[in-house]
Amino acid sequence: MSHPQPKPGILGIAPYVGGKASVPGVAHVIKLSSNEDALGASPRAAEAYSRAARKLSRYPDPNCTELRQAIGERHGIEPERIVCGNGSDELLGLLCHSYAGPGDEVLYSQHGFLMYGIYAQSAGATPVMAPETDRHADVDALLAAVTPRTKVVFIANPNNPTGTYLSSDEMGRLRRGLRQDVLLVIDAAYAEYVSRNDYSPGLELVDDGSNTVMTRTFSKIHGLSSLRLGWCYCPPVIADVLNRVRAPFNINAAAQAAGKAAIEDVAFTVLSRAHNQVWLPWLSERMVGLGLRITPSVGNFLLVDFPEEERRCAAAADIFLQLRGLICRRVENYGLPNSLRITIGRDDEMHAVVDALADFMG
Ligand SMILES: *Cc1c(COP(=O)(O)O)cnc(C)c1O
Repeated sequence: MSHPQPKPGILGIAPYVGGKASVPGVAHVIKLSSNEDALGASPRAAEAYSRAARKLSRYPDPNCTELRQAIGERHGIEPERIVCGNGSDELLGLLCHSYAGPGDEVLYSQHGFLMYGIYAQSAGATPVMAPETDRHADVDALLAAVTPRTKVVFIANPNNPTGTYLSSDEMGRLRRGLRQDVLLVIDAAYAEYVSRNDYSPGLELVDDGSNTVMTRTFSKIHGLSSLRLGWCYCPPVIADVLNRVRAPFNINAAAQAAGKAAIEDVAFTVLSRAHNQVWLPWLSERMVGLGLRITPSVGNFLLVDFPEEERRCAAAADIFLQLRGLICRRVENYGLPNSLRITIGRDDEMHAVVDALADFMG
């Protein structure tokens, strides 16, 4: 062969495609395609980011000491068991690569976050999907899909793009049904938006043993998507593994400073959450009012199904919306060819998307 070949499986990966941010020929767009927070970042985070500009020549703290301290205080957990990542995506990847390889299986749910399959393939492991019931992760189906080769189970709770969640009882049942040597990764990227009494992000399951990790992100409710910052809460043995394999300076200084300010600005998080609690049900009701089927969501986004007929299908709706500068997310690569995922945006953005869809359907 005339040039270096990547490891088996790598060229089989379909690259991840993020939400569109522009429409050719449209100057002003409304971006509802990546589940970014409607209110954006705390002004204090932006100030901290600016202050970091004064020290650009210095390496950042390799251990994110102050940031982990702040996260620990906010969540009542030990900073030693927190590992930060360049987005929670980095942590999902490092966990997959550290615990699964060729011959192993990585299990997730049918409409689970796309990156789980991508990381499984890049680690040389075999991705395995368990069917869902009514777009909810199905614990029995997941457990039935476990084999002696299963090494890692990923579950987004709530899940993207469906917006559905597993109760803490169901998540506990999943954990108890898995072998002790199977790593369960609970991806709680949208945890802060959920307001259900039977939901828990999973801290107690992490505390219960040495085989469960919970990941979180600053990209969603904290509005810091551009800085790439996530964290996970781990058993000490797993934190130790991640600290061996991660790059030494994986979190830049601006992200550390802004992340600390963001997590300390509790009042701002409360505002973002309250905004979502108003507009998620509002959007859901309007969609149902237009005759569109929705999947009830607990996140900051809504999955909407379109009629089968060609001029009313999701692809047609997407084109129609884009001509008005509204960008939502097609989710055919999640096995949902006739749905759009709409992020909860600001008041005016929500009115714009509902008005446009009313015209589309009318
Ligand atoms: C957005 C999202 C993430 C967050 O990714 P970051 O790398 O932290 O920006 C993780 N998991 C799911 C399911 C998501 O939707």
